[in-house]
Amino acid sequence: MIEDTIAAIATPMGEGGIAVIRVSGDDAVLISDRVFRGKNKLSEVPTHTVHYGFIEEPSTGARIEEVLVTVMRGPRSFTREDVVEISCHGGFVSVRKVLDLILEYGARLAEPGEFTKRAFLNGRIDLSQAEAVIDLIRAKSDRAFRVAMKQSEGSLSKKIKALRQQLVELMAHIEVNIDYPEHDVEEMTNAFIKNKCTDAMAEIDRLLASAEQGKILREGLVTAIVGRPNVGKSSLLNTLAQEERAIVTEIAGTTRDVVEEYVHVNGIPLKLLDTAGIRETSDIVEQIGVEKSRQALSEADLILLVFNGAEPLTPDERAMLEQLEGRQVIAIINKLDLPQRIEADVLERTFGSERVVRMSIINQQGIVDLEKAIASIFFSGQVESSDLTYVSNARHIHLLKKAKASLLEAFEATETYVPIDMVQIDIRNAWEDLGEIIGDSVGDSLIDQIFSQFCLGK
Ligand code: GDP
Ligand code: ZN
Repeated sequence: MIEDTIAAIATPMGEGGIAVIRVSGDDAVLISDRVFRGKNKLSEVPTHTVHYGFIEEPSTGARIEEVLVTVMRGPRSFTREDVVEISCHGGFVSVRKVLDLILEYGARLAEPGEFTKRAFLNGRIDLSQAEAVIDLIRAKSDRAFRVAMKQSEGSLSKKIKALRQQLVELMAHIEVNIDYPEHDVEEMTNAFIKNKCTDAMAEIDRLLASAEQGKILREGLVTAIVGRPNVGKSSLLNTLAQEERAIVTEIAGTTRDVVEEYVHVNGIPLKLLDTAGIRETSDIVEQIGVEKSRQALSEADLILLVFNGAEPLTPDERAMLEQLEGRQVIAIINKLDLPQRIEADVLERTFGSERVVRMSIINQQGIVDLEKAIASIFFSGQVESSDLTYVSNARHIHLLKKAKASLLEAFEATETYVPIDMVQIDIRNAWEDLGEIIGDSVGDSLIDQIFSQFCLGK
């Protein structure tokens, strides 16, 4: 059982007028009382109440901070332990001083993710919910945030639990019939197992189908803007970047320095490919001879192929159409404000008319059509946009695949008349794999590994 009391600054460092220090554990109230001066002692106030007062250095009586303190006694708290949250108004230095006092008077500095870990260990949330908290912290778009939120509320857990329940019922059914080895009972049991395994595999497939979208939500739809010089690529990039504030993330330590630029189109994050060479011109095609750019093109989930509508297709462009067969392409006919000379019918035949968008980028015309085309690619497939249960975590995907493989073995075993208790083992394996997703039967080291991804104070 966890015994010590932990504390950390729970709000982002630096900015913001208010900072919150969270204290959790058996002694949270006791320790807070040592440094808090208010109308009442915190140990005497009702749970879930807020109190005004001061944090003072007990030995000298020096006032450090004016605060509001919230007392939440377990189990009705995020960690299910006694939790005290101290809201400070002052700047970073005084917040840090308050935290230091709390640590001096009995708490231990929380490790990254430790609050969430306690919530998990105390049964407040399951593992997939805890992992969703990591995603929440890292979410790069509104939509990714909402998906993570939904998962943190337990949407994936619910589906996994329902699946496991089906498997438990199946195992119980088999258990009952193992004792009646007459032939016709066995026949019936086999048919029953086949049905149930088919259902469960179909549900797993639905979850796995959502994985691709989940990955995109987390990492962005990898997008390359391609076209010959002067068609309007840089203009498009700038327009997209202005639509919503571009988020730039430096990822150091990779083999080469890659700067990822995120723009959001209707809440869908696009990760514009932007390798070092490309970056100077913000332009992919002008570097198209460069190996890096070629690689960028091959890695892209989505290619925005830009044309100048005022000119006929060039031989190079026609060659490009063939090269991109089978890829996700949106053809953009730009410069719609000029007299049109491009063979639009060729593009429509190659990519389908819904994948050809007419724009006048300098006039900000056609942007909505482009957004619609991108959204239709993103939401093609089996996932409905209203269902925000996406499987986005590599660990979950791996376990779902493993569970499905076990179910397939069970299914096939019924056809080859393998003894039924062997089938039972396959189903049990699937049940256990699914359990690992929500944190049933996972080892300590895995738990440590997962929670170490958190940032401080969560
Ligand atoms: P890139 O070389 O493909 O990156 O093309 P740029 O974005 O640098 O644009 C090339 C030229 O085309 C610039 O002079 C732009 O102002 C112009 N341009 C971009 N979009 C349009 C448009 O919609 N209509 C017209 N008439 N000119 C445009
Ligand atoms: Zn350019």
